Amino acid sequence: MARYTDPVCRLCRREGMKLFLKGDRCFSPKCAFERRSYPPGMHAKKTQFKRTESDYALQLREKQKVKRIYGVMERQFRRYFRHALRTKGMTGVTLLQMLESRLDNVVYRLGFASSRAQARQLVRHGHFTVNGRKTNIPSYLVKVDDVIAVRPESRSRTYFRNLGEFVSERTAPSWLSLDADGMSARVVGKPSREDIDLEINEQLVVEFYSR
Ligand code: SF4
Repeated sequence: MARYTDPVCRLCRREGMKLFLKGDRCFSPKCAFERRSYPPGMHAKKTQFKRTESDYALQLREKQKVKRIYGVMERQFRRYFRHALRTKGMTGVTLLQMLESRLDNVVYRLGFASSRAQARQLVRHGHFTVNGRKTNIPSYLVKVDDVIAVRPESRSRTYFRNLGEFVSERTAPSWLSLDADGMSARVVGKPSREDIDLEINEQLVVEFYSR
């Protein structure tokens, strides 16, 4: 599956907020958004205050923001939306639940990685198992009762050995039950909207695709 490989800090600057795509750097003074909190591009600084945003522009920006936070490309994002549309319940919330259930996001939420991009790479490199089976598909959607764990062969690696303290300090969301010593977690429920602590207006995304 394709993924975005260009500089990511410009995405934060475009969306006008920190999307936390670069792990520790996002919390340091090196953060590009802290230093240049205007959109990227040669003339963006001059025009940023002149524009009046249409409904379409607001919906588009919100959709792009959600996609970028979760590192999903357009085609797959549309697939998630179509699935959410067919599912009973509020489409926007279902969409967010699906994105939260991606294996790379779960690895990030558990504190095994400092960003979703890093989590994706760890999954791709085969460091995780789901229900005891090696799983290297970042888009795998975890289900209730699934057990996600660091693969036994990977636990002795320096990266995972140094991670111990960080994982235990971190608070996993309520729908994941973390066993920090065992480097594993069980999915104990579906993520609720309150568990998704992101500044997202999912209704605008629904409106974008319902035009
Ligand atoms: Fe965004 Fe992080 Fe880059 Fe700051 S450092 S602009 S929060 S990706």
